[in-house]
Amino acid sequence: MGTETLKAFDVQRVRADFPILRRQVHGRPLVYLDNAATTQKPRVVLDALSRYYTDQNANVHRGVHHLSEIATAAYDGARTKVRRFFNAASDREIIFTRNATESINLVAQAYARPKLQAGDEVLISAMEHHSNIVPWQMACAERGAHLRVAPIDDRGELLLDEFERLLSERTRLVAITHMSNALGTVNPVAEIVRLAHGRNVPVLLDGSQAAYHMPVDVQALGADFYVATGHKLYGPTGIGVLYGRESLLEGMPPFLGGGDMIASVTFEKSTWNELPYKFEAGTPHIEGAIGLGTAIDYMQSVGLDEMAAHEQQLLAYGTTLLEAIPGVRMIGTARRKASILSFVMEGIHPHDIGTIVDREGVAIRTGHHCAQPVMERFGIPATARASLAMYNTREELDALGVALRKVVEVFG
Ligand SMILES: *Cc1c(COP(=O)(O)O)cnc(C)c1O
Repeated sequence: MGTETLKAFDVQRVRADFPILRRQVHGRPLVYLDNAATTQKPRVVLDALSRYYTDQNANVHRGVHHLSEIATAAYDGARTKVRRFFNAASDREIIFTRNATESINLVAQAYARPKLQAGDEVLISAMEHHSNIVPWQMACAERGAHLRVAPIDDRGELLLDEFERLLSERTRLVAITHMSNALGTVNPVAEIVRLAHGRNVPVLLDGSQAAYHMPVDVQALGADFYVATGHKLYGPTGIGVLYGRESLLEGMPPFLGGGDMIASVTFEKSTWNELPYKFEAGTPHIEGAIGLGTAIDYMQSVGLDEMAAHEQQLLAYGTTLLEAIPGVRMIGTARRKASILSFVMEGIHPHDIGTIVDREGVAIRTGHHCAQPVMERFGIPATARASLAMYNTREELDALGVALRKVVEVFG
């Protein structure tokens, strides 16, 4: 990444593309630092959604009429954009779902459940989001299989030796996050895949966080399944992505039954449509997919490397700034991390931190971040979490710092 390209990243120009960033909260400029929960949307995405309903709306894959052809081309075109974004080999490997959670449930129900037998194991890590824990628990419970959990250290890094030790003859699937939403840890996923494949174990990577902070190449990573969620990729809610290796998807039964996922139906028997439609029962979230495609175009126009470099600079700046505030302790200090500043303050409940900084217009999240086992690992009930996106600035982190010093004044 040359200095020229870095210089080309103009955060003020990026900010101008996000209408919501102009609003105020409690009479202060909005400082939005809750991006790990959902990101804001650029105008081009809002326009694409509006254009869909003013100019293109029709159901897909059914009509021969003009509008249906336009809607179908836009919907399938969005799939091609997603395929290129993740560098999947074929559009057949990209399934549109509602969100990352549904993508994981699809794999748990249609891939893992039929395969799991009593005594088999699914291996996850101690830093997973609830969405990458509960679906496996459900599938395991039904089949008498066991969930194994690879531990993390005090920095919030996966213990790779322990992970390798837990890969056993009984392991049928590894499901692990590419990047932790609670700690910011970026896992060595290519190495994890290599270790698992060495034992013929397929790997699902939860890319809900990673996908909007860094370029992802599913083929380079060797992932068998990769999941992402549209609303964190600067796209709409209600649209998610499942990448699956074609040979695995081919062998899986449908997840949901209904229209669009069939080739033929009689009362005796139905046959399944080809990929990816086999896994897209019913009318899909057409404008959601189109909006996600537009969001991906937008991210690429900004530049993924430039965006990542900007966020890394902010992360370093924010870490130094927070560590200088009396009583602050960072939770999640992995050597490889991205865009998450999770912390606790001596003697102050995270909820009180969140409430006070909100009065200053600063939006951060407080709680367990859908990762209760992570909180348990660190012996805390919750953290406060500032999470970054491409449009955040040093000035906004300064505003967080000022607000946190007020918290210290009130409670210190
Ligand atoms: C947000 C998130 C999810 C769940 O995403 P949904 O859009 O709620 O399905 C799963 N895993 C991680 C790591 C996340 O950050």
